[in-house]
Amino acid sequence: MILLYHLVFPDDTPTDAWNAGGILRLSAFERQLSWLNRRFPIISLDDYIENLSKDQSNKNKYSAITFDDGYRNVIDLVSPFLIKQRFPATFFVTTSHLEDECLLWFVYINALCSDGPYSLLEVAGDTLPLDHPKNRKKTYQTLINMARQSGDPKGFVLELSRCYPLPDGVKNMYEGPTRDQFLAFRNSNLLTLGGHTHSHPYLDQISMADQAFEIRQNKAILEELTQKSVGYFAYTGGIYTGITINVVKQAGFEAALAVRPKDLGDNNLFELPRTDIYSPSMIKFGLKVRGGAGLIEKIVRRKQ
Ligand SMILES: [Zn+2]
Repeated sequence: MILLYHLVFPDDTPTDAWNAGGILRLSAFERQLSWLNRRFPIISLDDYIENLSKDQSNKNKYSAITFDDGYRNVIDLVSPFLIKQRFPATFFVTTSHLEDECLLWFVYINALCSDGPYSLLEVAGDTLPLDHPKNRKKTYQTLINMARQSGDPKGFVLELSRCYPLPDGVKNMYEGPTRDQFLAFRNSNLLTLGGHTHSHPYLDQISMADQAFEIRQNKAILEELTQKSVGYFAYTGGIYTGITINVVKQAGFEAALAVRPKDLGDNNLFELPRTDIYSPSMIKFGLKVRGGAGLIEKIVRRKQ
């Protein structure tokens, strides 16, 4: 299986902290990967995909590690462990911050709701509270839904960020990789980069030409910075259409990663499933990795 991580936090992160998707600390992350490697050896995405091409059942024997979005702090935090253990990993990263120095639109919403200085927001006539972890979570989801429904998440967040700017200290916690971090990937065969669009749009909301720009621009910048070819792409938010698959193929990618495949194309290398991990719980992790989570959900549903 291919695992998908997003944010990993330092071990001194407060226990009452809230963040989109939960708080996964470094020690829990390390525990999960060590457990995984003993049962399903962690191999590079290159080797994983090659094995899969030979025999589909190999997906149950090995694992590959991926991260989406590419936070500079996460890369700094997890890299020493991955390098020490010789665990290969692929970071699917966006690139627009190198030009505009802005947080990605949904990352701004997360930063605002998780660590922003405001106790409430006034948005489109609604009052959205941020005074309690439960309200932070609810407001985060409301804003993500509003951004998606606006049809222009980037524009929606640009307006919002003019009314509710973030202090530098908060912004720093969520920023994308620096140019130097990108350059460091030149020298690593263990840690590699993958494409994740230039500015993380919902690919089903933009034209084919705009999808092609987002996907190709990102690939070109990453290849220029690392002097390596970028062979794999991860669909932003796990969302894609049949047109997206064609655009990704035409941009020269060899495979693409989804979360839950829609089986739209004739080539499953462009809809590879991933198991997304947000929780520090080893029990949940074991169930998800072994595919038991879906089974338990079915049993619970049957009992209801
Ligand atoms: Zn993403």
